[in-house]
Amino acid sequence: MFNRFLHPTATAAAPPQATGSTPPLSVQMSVSATDQPTAPLPAPPLLFAFDFDWTLVDEDSDRFIFSELSPPALEKLYKDHKLKQWTDLMDELHGDLYTARVPSLTLMDTWRRMPFNPATAAALRLAATQTAANGPHHLIILSDANTVAIDAILKHHGLRDLFRVVITNPARFDNEGRLRVERLIPADGVQHDCANGCAVNICKGKFLNEYIATHGPFASVIYAGDGKNDLCPAMTLRARDYVLPRTGHTLAKLLCPPGSAEAGATVSAGNNKPEPENAVPIGARERVSASIRAWATGEDLLEVVKGILLAEEQASA
Ligand SMILES: [Mg+2]
Ligand SMILES: [Zn+2]
Repeated sequence: MFNRFLHPTATAAAPPQATGSTPPLSVQMSVSATDQPTAPLPAPPLLFAFDFDWTLVDEDSDRFIFSELSPPALEKLYKDHKLKQWTDLMDELHGDLYTARVPSLTLMDTWRRMPFNPATAAALRLAATQTAANGPHHLIILSDANTVAIDAILKHHGLRDLFRVVITNPARFDNEGRLRVERLIPADGVQHDCANGCAVNICKGKFLNEYIATHGPFASVIYAGDGKNDLCPAMTLRARDYVLPRTGHTLAKLLCPPGSAEAGATVSAGNNKPEPENAVPIGARERVSASIRAWATGEDLLEVVKGILLAEEQASA
């Protein structure tokens, strides 16, 4: 087992914990003249949490690699995904690529040329360069892809250092040059008991809340995603938070009114990976308290991020 988090760069100190609100005026007036006046609480930063496939990249990194490099492996992916756990299947298919003598450099180059909208990169840079009173906003990734693919793509676009941590399935090339992919929650480890329909290897809500508990508080949490496994973190958010589902994809169908422009027309399933079979919890839409801001393109995402930054800045002024 190797490090499940991809090269965490979370070196910034956690912001101070809020200890309470400013006392009412009557209380302030009763303090002695020697007491210091109560300083206003610093505004905590925002936490931007992103899914990766079909959220930051305009494709699925697992499906893309096999569709580009091995039609037989892609066929096996669609044939076997209901029979085998997804991460285990990815590891097996990368074994097939190795047997077919696909070099590791070809894998990396293929991931680097995945479609990535420059407006998406601009949204990330904007969020990462804005600062709250007590520190810069945090950006993290929660993904069911793998560390090697995400690292290759983000570094290629000069975006890797914007993220404090990438929480995803650990991967590495072995001495032979074969990519090995492991489950984020190993099969022999303590399994999550999430009731929100998460796959066995990852519960994004659990990992999001662990991050908030360790690095918070945050004034608001902004979660952007597209898939069924993004529903769990969306359901854990508070009323002051935001969920950003991608129009035309599963999460938007689950959270936006049926037939609405926000839910959108269904994007062709032909270039998406199969969704997990897990059941969607009953009443999921009603159980999401956060504000919903749907988006379809990187350009839309940039506008949504700008709007949230402006609203949060005005709210803390
Ligand atoms: Mg996704
Ligand atoms: Zn979950």
